[in-house]
Amino acid sequence: ENNKPTNFIRQIIEDDLASGKHSSIHTRFPPEPNGYLHIGHATSIVLNFGIAEDYDGQCNLRFDDTNPHKEDEEYVEAIKHDVRWLGYEWAGLYFASDYFEQLYNFAVELIEQGKAYVCDLNAEEVREYRGTLTEPGRESPWRERSVEENLDLFKRMRAGEFEDGSRTLRAKIDMASPNMNLRDPALYRIRRGAVHHQTGDEWCIYPMYDFTHPISDALEGITHSLCTLEFEDHRPLYDWVLDNISIGCHPRQIEFARRTLEYTVTSKRKLIQLVEEGHVSGWDDPRMPTLAGLRRRGYTPASIRDFCGRIGITKSEAAAEMGVLEAAIREDLDHSAPRRMAVLDPLRVVITNYPEHEEETLVGPNHPKDESMGTRELKFSRELWIERADFREEANKKYKRLVTGGEVRLRNAYTIICQKVIKDVSGEIKELHCTYDPNTLGKNPEGRKVRGVIHWVSALAAVPGEVRLYDRLFTVPAPDADKDKPFQEFLNPDSLRVVQAMLEPSLEQARPGERFQFEREGYFCRDTGSKELVFNRVVTLRDSWGG
Ligand code: ATP
Ligand code: MG
Ligand code: MG
Repeated sequence: ENNKPTNFIRQIIEDDLASGKHSSIHTRFPPEPNGYLHIGHATSIVLNFGIAEDYDGQCNLRFDDTNPHKEDEEYVEAIKHDVRWLGYEWAGLYFASDYFEQLYNFAVELIEQGKAYVCDLNAEEVREYRGTLTEPGRESPWRERSVEENLDLFKRMRAGEFEDGSRTLRAKIDMASPNMNLRDPALYRIRRGAVHHQTGDEWCIYPMYDFTHPISDALEGITHSLCTLEFEDHRPLYDWVLDNISIGCHPRQIEFARRTLEYTVTSKRKLIQLVEEGHVSGWDDPRMPTLAGLRRRGYTPASIRDFCGRIGITKSEAAAEMGVLEAAIREDLDHSAPRRMAVLDPLRVVITNYPEHEEETLVGPNHPKDESMGTRELKFSRELWIERADFREEANKKYKRLVTGGEVRLRNAYTIICQKVIKDVSGEIKELHCTYDPNTLGKNPEGRKVRGVIHWVSALAAVPGEVRLYDRLFTVPAPDADKDKPFQEFLNPDSLRVVQAMLEPSLEQARPGERFQFEREGYFCRDTGSKELVFNRVVTLRDSWGG
């Protein structure tokens, strides 16, 4: 993580610093507060804030809040929380709505120069007049209104005299331009009933994104305005706006490809559907690709920054493999997560030669390769739980676990031999009767080789807890690839499996959000959304994605 990443945008920035075009760099991350941030946004955050960090510049957080209907204060707070959680602090916190008065004045300036006009066509007529990719558009009959009339009408739009949709303010550019965005794009629309989360009912006209964005960037002194590829065709309009108003700053817009992830969807609109239709428990459901979901799942900020670095920034779209994200958290937790033992599918073991009602305290290292992480106490007693899958009545030598008559080591404890299998009337194994060798604590048995090592917990001391095992949320890599099929059709019905586990007692003290490796099972995080003892599986120990 300490090596600076390199990509074509950072190259441009280095060139601009070297040539003296800029002496300092100023970027911004401009989310619309209409949903929670997802893993795609993380790449943009890491790009913008990472550049500011690495080139001694500044990065603003700006809420692009010009759409009063879809925006909400809840999202503003969640986005601020997520950016900070990822490890970044903004130089300035802004709202595009802070600029409404200035934007209005710039619009007046365009009108005064004859570069914008009030148009009375309705939405459908505007579409008709716009033409197609192969045919030029037609000019609006309202295009040649006088400056005086336009100023008067625009003022009255602001005053709330006209109904929603009855008029727009449009830029007067070129109805024959091969770039559709330049065919007299709308600059303002009327939204009379709307209550804006920042400005309340002060405004009943709202500026369009393509007008707001370049001006907001320029007002903040942004040097490089980084956005996703779908805005490439809007760049001429971005430049037109700044070229035609009196403003002393002209940021450079640079586009990069959206980052998406396989087996999930990364669009706020679709994520909202998952929440509202009840397919997940909320924005922070640990299966969601939102930062809130990944956080609750147990992902660390460092692992997400690492993931963003691994997939990089390019001009071409490609969905990242889930395995890349998982490798990042696995690597982080392998170093940092203390080891614990948890039995997810418990089978009772009775050690017949261990005294009844007795309990001894053993010690287990918190990390096999890092002594500085210390140790914890383990209770050993006559009755234990082991994993049902760690026993077979018969198996060949390749099976490195317990078999009838075979010997295994209990991790951090003794070796045991299975002497007898006890079944219920239906033939299901109820418990195992084993013997232990008291001379094998911390040393190998003499003259024999054990099959393998398995984990366990003392039945006397164990604490029961719920463990949530997650699988991919969708069954196909690109659930929203087919426009004619709702992506919900590809939801994985088995994306969550809940088991009642037996946990080593120290786990009862785990803090919400604390992460562990359950030995041989995977990485787990104590859930932050439940009062009870619940653990979420962050990721398995090995890549189970076959990729
Ligand atoms: P969505 O479709 O999920 O709503 P959006 O682009 O409308 O995405 P914004 O709130 O406008 O969401 O995004 C804020 C910033 O994050 C923008 O600069 C946008 O380009 C960037 N961004 C959004 N999604 C991605 C993504 N998948 N990959 C990279 N950057 C993204
Ligand atoms: Mg959007
Ligand atoms: Mg957007």
